[in-house]
Amino acid sequence: MGYEDLTLYIDGEFLKGDGRAEQAVTDPATGQRIGTLPLARQADLDRALAAAARAFETWREVSPLERSRILRRVAELSRERASSIGRNMTLDQGKPLAEAVGEVSRCADHCDWHAEECRRIYGRVIPPRSPNVRQMVLREPVGVCVAFTPWNFPFNQAIRKIAAAIGAGCTIILKGPEDTPSAIVAIARMFHEAGLPPGVLNLVWGVPSEVSSYLIPAPVVRKVSFTGSVPVGKQLASLAGAHMKRITMELGGHSPAIVCEDADIDRAADLLSAMKFTNAGQVCVSPNRIFVHENAWDRFVSRFLDNVSKIRVGPGLDPDTRMGPLAHERRLPVMEALVADACERGARLEAGGRRVGDQGYFYAPTVLTDVPEDSLVMTSEPFGPIAPCVRFRDLDDAIRRANSLPYGLSSYAFTRSTSKALALQNRLQAGMVNINHSGQALPETPFGGVKDSGIGSEGGSETFDGYLVTKFVTQLD
Ligand code: NAD
Repeated sequence: MGYEDLTLYIDGEFLKGDGRAEQAVTDPATGQRIGTLPLARQADLDRALAAAARAFETWREVSPLERSRILRRVAELSRERASSIGRNMTLDQGKPLAEAVGEVSRCADHCDWHAEECRRIYGRVIPPRSPNVRQMVLREPVGVCVAFTPWNFPFNQAIRKIAAAIGAGCTIILKGPEDTPSAIVAIARMFHEAGLPPGVLNLVWGVPSEVSSYLIPAPVVRKVSFTGSVPVGKQLASLAGAHMKRITMELGGHSPAIVCEDADIDRAADLLSAMKFTNAGQVCVSPNRIFVHENAWDRFVSRFLDNVSKIRVGPGLDPDTRMGPLAHERRLPVMEALVADACERGARLEAGGRRVGDQGYFYAPTVLTDVPEDSLVMTSEPFGPIAPCVRFRDLDDAIRRANSLPYGLSSYAFTRSTSKALALQNRLQAGMVNINHSGQALPETPFGGVKDSGIGSEGGSETFDGYLVTKFVTQLD
């Protein structure tokens, strides 16, 4: 079975070659080249803009029932193809096969959710001041959208933006992650086969900053959606603001996890160690600052370390692998610098802190304890397999420290006390608060951050908000 045939997808055509520049795609488990990605020329971007603008004029009129039918068909195809799409995602992204296949299957549920919800995009009637007036609020698709998605959950991040745009009646140009492109091309193929009209979805690749600085200011574009790092999100939001484009920003986080002394300590250690090393820690909602009550510290740390010692690191296609390589070589020196900085400042390295093997981009699951809170790993998003654990004595102090960073994406807390749970729900500055479990990122629940972690939500009944504009209509009989 070969790797995905990588192409652009513009105005209903799969395009490659023809003198376009190309970029190598590599397997992070081996560092070997596995594919060749064609990059868009300026003429391709212009064609995508024209196609998306033209298609919007008809797609906006297509009934929600028909939009729903196409999304449902893509959900079915995703389930049918989860194994092959997942395998290719493991090859270019590195995550264990079970995680990759699970990502595709869960996204089928996201597609189904958007198929259902797009039939319920309601307006409202406002009681008038005189009987011969009728006042209505209509919700209309915003227009042509451009979206930029990253490499950690290639299928998930792209499908959530595409399904929301298409379900709302918008058209979309997506620039996916050049290092992990297979899942996105597979998505384009499924929409094509499901009967999506040409131009409604367009897929381009290129130098990220060049593509975004060309597409965002284009006059036909009305909406920008980005998932990625805070610095890039701020750049794109500024550019969108300068051209008065709407935005959805799903940016990084530095999620705190607070383990109270009255919690089920073993359960907290099991859940947090499992979550922290999923996708080699390259997850925007990864628990990154683990605050443990001093009375629970010894038990928590010993159980956490025991779990970590059992994590088998290896190529994602090996069925015994629990954690794959980092997605890029450039992430290895970042991990090394974070660990060195923390240790220089007095943290204890309890596990990992080193590369694994001599090929590919493997880094051992790493645990640091008593990490000073001014160290880099405690203040900037590690986005890798490093778990810093610190102690606390007083819950108010833990909440204050949890809220001390500019990020505000997810948060976790473990307690058996309802009053502590209430205080944590009310006071944690985060878009998502998970208490005693992790229950976020479901199709029916909103996903998004506050503070520097972003603007807007994906999923839940909020999912179409960023893709709709409000029109007030008043009529005198
Ligand atoms: P990066 O900030 O250079 O890139 C992050 C993503 O943004 C990539 O997919 C990249 O292609 C895209 N990007 C970068 N510049 C862009 C531009 N000018 N226009 C459009 N897209 C652009 O960092 P990186 O080395 O790829 O990843 C490391 C950091 O990115 C992590 O530390 C993490 O904070 C962040 N990140 C966050 C998420 C998330 O889900 N929130 C996902 C991936 C990466």
